Amino acid sequence: THFGFKDVPVAEKVTKVREVFDSVAPSYDIMNDLMSMGVHRLWKRFTVEIANVKPGHVVLDLAGGTGDLSALFAKRVGKTGKVVLADINEAMLRVGRDRMIDKGHISNITYNLANAECLPYASNQFDRVCIGFGLRNVTDKEAALRSMFDVLKPGGRLLILEFSKPTNPLLDKIYDAYSFKLLPKIGELVAKDGDSYQYLAESIRMHPDQSTLKGMMEEAGFERCQVNNLTGGIVAVHTGYKL
Ligand code: SAM
Repeated sequence: THFGFKDVPVAEKVTKVREVFDSVAPSYDIMNDLMSMGVHRLWKRFTVEIANVKPGHVVLDLAGGTGDLSALFAKRVGKTGKVVLADINEAMLRVGRDRMIDKGHISNITYNLANAECLPYASNQFDRVCIGFGLRNVTDKEAALRSMFDVLKPGGRLLILEFSKPTNPLLDKIYDAYSFKLLPKIGELVAKDGDSYQYLAESIRMHPDQSTLKGMMEEAGFERCQVNNLTGGIVAVHTGYKL
């Protein structure tokens, strides 16, 4: 069965994305470890490392889901700073909040139900905005980039951690076979949900590549944009400043 995601109209995409994350929320963390063989932890650590967050900073972890990035940021902003974990999906946000409380992050993380396309914050609020494995699920990416630009303080920085295009053609082939053949099977076996993982593979394939995304950031107003390829470009961290 094919998820048929490529052919669905915009309004249905929103519903499908919601259904996917409602469905994967309980098994999300274990699936991340399984599918990436644990490497997603390194990708996230790298992102937080280069974010250069200082004590006292206010950080928005957008599409924060179960909160891996929030937990890393919370350690760095300290007691005087704040992390806002924002996600459009209630089920993911609930798992995230429970996990953060279990990890002891109580005082410096807050939780918001928010759509990246029209963020519910005043302009110039955040020192950093980070969106990890979230942008490819957003329907109107241009609107989301503009909204992230708006809520950043002048001098603030955006970090986009997302699947991208492997730079080596052979790796690209192997990776394609992995995502379309093996990944939905693992999803079926472990999460009993092959369709959602088929969607994830399709959304990765359709996501703009390194230079396209960089161009979109520049279009939204970001300056000094840079691309860091990780694991041969399977993943990339894009960064840019609001100056
Ligand atoms: N950042 C977390 C991580 O790296 O583990 C979660 C990533 S998860 C693959 C993608 C998240 O994006 C989901 O929790 C989903 O609900 C959220 N999401 C999808 N569309 C969104 C939107 N328009 N605005 C905010 N969050 C969105």
